Amino acid sequence: MQTITDIIQLRSLIAGWRAADHPIAFVPTMGNLHDGHMKLVRTAKHRALKVVVSIFVNPTQFGPHEDFDNYPRTEQQDAQKLVTADVDVLFLPSIDIMYPQRNLISIGIHELNQDYCGKSRPGHFEGMATIVCKLFNIVQPDMAFFGEKDFQQLAIIRQMVSDLNFPLLIYGVPTQREDDGLAMSSRNSYLTPQQRAVAPKLYQTLLTIKHHIVKGEPDFDQLTNQASAELNQAGFFTEYLNIANSDTLQPASPGDNTLIILAAAKLGNTRLIDNLTIHLNSA
Ligand code: AMP
Repeated sequence: MQTITDIIQLRSLIAGWRAADHPIAFVPTMGNLHDGHMKLVRTAKHRALKVVVSIFVNPTQFGPHEDFDNYPRTEQQDAQKLVTADVDVLFLPSIDIMYPQRNLISIGIHELNQDYCGKSRPGHFEGMATIVCKLFNIVQPDMAFFGEKDFQQLAIIRQMVSDLNFPLLIYGVPTQREDDGLAMSSRNSYLTPQQRAVAPKLYQTLLTIKHHIVKGEPDFDQLTNQASAELNQAGFFTEYLNIANSDTLQPASPGDNTLIILAAAKLGNTRLIDNLTIHLNSA
């Protein structure tokens, strides 16, 4: 594996691959790699001859009171995992390389960022979409891989690629979980042992809601209100817990066949997100 920090060097290497017609896959990350990230890498390896992984903790997608400074940075261990996974290139740019000057242009998002994480993290998705756009232009992959764990992010990326005519395929990869169901996340390392013991209740709550919906419970507000109250009683602060149409992310309405339960909840200062898809039989 080559570790490259420079855009020109990366472009020249990739130009050689492209001239040889090698399919190129790209996995953007913020590092502190866990098995969720590695599942994206494995899926990418399966689909393409060449795999580029980027690690960049992007300052513009963190709010002023968020965890940019404390975000776990473990580049050496990350690089070792990527070598073991037979990745071709780790792109590891500095902030100065990615933002040599103050950006005056960014990606604007309409509608898809009004609710859920977009509501509780103003500016987050604009920062995320802009850095992904820059990375797509630098790497110019044939395909890119994103986790379904960040469902709203994936929806925004798909829309961006479609609306702005990026010539690449986007693959969503199912959420990788710990044995007790907790979705893997770099932020799980912030949890105290007590909080870690409570954390799987978020996913259990999504499973319970799904169970009731599949059984035919029609009152989604009642389900989510009760579930939020139970989470709060267990020590969470529930930021949102909603049931949406999984294609549009609009609130679910009768007749929708594919739903998604979306949740964000804090344990202390640690913000956890998760989601669960429900396929209903169309009668
Ligand atoms: P991050 O480093 O948190 O920005 O995540 C980089 C990519 O890994 C994103 O596409 C995430 O959706 C994905 N990802 C993070 N956690 C998981 C997980 N538990 N399972 C699958 N994909 C994940």
